[in-house]
Amino acid sequence: MKQRLLDEIQSSSKNTMMKRGIISHLIYSENSTITDMSKELNLSIPTVTKLVDEMLAEGFVDECGKLETSGGRHPILYGLNADSGYFIGADLKQSGINLGLMNFKGDILKLQMGIPFKREDTLDSVKEFCNYIQTFIEQTSIDREKILNIGVALCGRVNPDLGYSPTFYNFGERPLADIMSDQLEINVSLDNDSRAMLYGEYMKTDMKGARNILFLNVSWGLGMGIMIDGKLYKGKSGFSGEIGHNYGYDNQIICHCGKKGCLETEISCSALYRKFVERLKAGEMSAILSQKEIEEITLDDIFYAIEKEDLLAIELVEEIGRKLGLHIGGFINLFNPDLVIIGGDMSRAGDFLLQPIITTVRKHTLSLMSRDSEIILSKLKTQASVIGACMLSRSKFFAID
Ligand SMILES: [Zn+2]
Repeated sequence: MKQRLLDEIQSSSKNTMMKRGIISHLIYSENSTITDMSKELNLSIPTVTKLVDEMLAEGFVDECGKLETSGGRHPILYGLNADSGYFIGADLKQSGINLGLMNFKGDILKLQMGIPFKREDTLDSVKEFCNYIQTFIEQTSIDREKILNIGVALCGRVNPDLGYSPTFYNFGERPLADIMSDQLEINVSLDNDSRAMLYGEYMKTDMKGARNILFLNVSWGLGMGIMIDGKLYKGKSGFSGEIGHNYGYDNQIICHCGKKGCLETEISCSALYRKFVERLKAGEMSAILSQKEIEEITLDDIFYAIEKEDLLAIELVEEIGRKLGLHIGGFINLFNPDLVIIGGDMSRAGDFLLQPIITTVRKHTLSLMSRDSEIILSKLKTQASVIGACMLSRSKFFAID
């Protein structure tokens, strides 16, 4: 099955290209009739019927019920065959790994969140990362031969076409995707985590027809995923959306990139953490102090404090929201998006983050522009990246943008 799929997708015959078109259509619309496929792909009904018959025999597609119509005829609906193959998504964070398993149809079958992992910039660390993926695969009941691709989401600059991650895990000539593919003996593709988050959200939640979307990934750093007319925008080398390193503040804080005053020195979870600890050290009070020493406080503690309505933590999140709102206003002027999604770890702060963003955008942006774009919180929250990695893994396998 796997070899046949690989032979199919690597062939550039007209037949394969048309089949890939059908798969792409079924990825985005879940199920479809022969008539709808023929309209969508601009192919004749006999051609689509022949292709679908072949794909049924090959195991790509399956019948999945009949279309309910008011007339007498109930045309057959076709969808992707759930068991034809499986995809793995791996979301690598600075200090943890999230892993997911998805079937051919796009159902997420298993998620393992928050595996502790200390990322170091060495080949041994890559091997360890692969070992976790390997163990995850072994723990599923899926035949290894049926796993078609592994999609990895990484922060920083990632070139998805060449499989390079220049920000870290960059070992010279050999792309990281090749190193990982060799170790895992399954093809690996890479993408940037903010783009993965946006794609996960786009594929798995109701976007109400939005096709121009900005996804603000406010996590330990700050990044942005961009979708233009239903397609992820990567830029020339995949490095688009690195807004965290735009210059923004005369604050004398050295960013981890080595420059000063980057946006993420004020707008990120690392900024929230730094400021929270600084303010406590300066003598301010928080309920956390009744349970922990300042040195023991983690980012999770701060989000827990926000849930418990800790005033200092809320005040700092609101300040970050106002600063982010000013920049989102600029992005709205630039892109005129349908939707701006606020995601990443910081979205755990919910309305305490969202409301100051909305107010600031309304205050400082052309009203016609700001009212044209809706600003919402990520629905997938901390799962967005790993779900997006699963989804990108499938699209990448079929070379579908
Ligand atoms: Zn920077």
